[in-house]
Amino acid sequence: MSRVFEEHVAMITGASQGIGEAIAHRLASEGCNLILASRRKAACEKVGALLDKEGIDTLSVAMDVGDLESVAASVEVALERFGRIDFLVNNAGITRDNLLVRMDPEDWDAVLRTDLTGVYNCTKAVLRSMLRRRSGRVVTISSVVGLLGNSGQTAYGAAKAGVFGFTKSLAREIASRNITVNAVAPGYISTDMTAELSEEATEKLQQGIPLGRLGVGADVAGAVRFLLSEDAAYITGQILSVDGGMYM
Ligand code: NDP
Repeated sequence: MSRVFEEHVAMITGASQGIGEAIAHRLASEGCNLILASRRKAACEKVGALLDKEGIDTLSVAMDVGDLESVAASVEVALERFGRIDFLVNNAGITRDNLLVRMDPEDWDAVLRTDLTGVYNCTKAVLRSMLRRRSGRVVTISSVVGLLGNSGQTAYGAAKAGVFGFTKSLAREIASRNITVNAVAPGYISTDMTAELSEEATEKLQQGIPLGRLGVGADVAGAVRFLLSEDAAYITGQILSVDGGMYM
């Protein structure tokens, strides 16, 4: 594989496992240096140790995306180390599913704080250096649930739909600075987040997916890689669905 991202630096939030880890592996395979961020620094370091062996420079940072101070401190450390961040991949996210009538305010707040305010915090912290360099890419992992809705996921759906409005507004705000802002909307991807589904529920889900299978992390990573590449230089403010055809 060609190392098209050599000399580039990407910050990936939620890089300790699942889709974030898959994105880390894909970008590293093309030479990208990485800032791996999540609340569990040790788990990010484990991911980083594998990539360091491939000649990739990685930095693992402990970060709660919902806490602007924690984000700003980690971004500062990363900028000191690398001097730049070319790509931001907002991937960290949580679910706290429940019917609205039973949903505690704490769960609503936790989801909005991580999945939407987290995107604001991380993008704000990284953007200044991109603006200075008049170059950069922001890709946020949203969800098909933000497009279709899903019973039991009002908080998650609201946060993930919020990402679309954020993405389009920011794309317009900074297009003149040569920075693109896009979102990826995965369908159901096999990770810890979906591991709790019963076999029966998984089978039912698959029946609703035109391509007939759940996705894997690499499916999402490929879309992110594309949006970060030169091939996507003229694409901004877009939502790229990676969902086996669930939303079309
Ligand atoms: P996982 O639960 O496997 O991983 C979530 C990641 O987010 C972990 O690395 C976790 O790290 C990190 N994270 C959670 N909260 C925070 C926080 N407050 N600050 C920093 N990091 C945090 O989920 P997936 O890999 O499945 O999901 C990744 C993204 O993709 C999410 O945004 C999710 O909504 C989205 N998505 C997933 C789909 C799926 O089917 N799996 C479908 C559509 C969208 P740590 O615990 O170390 O903090």
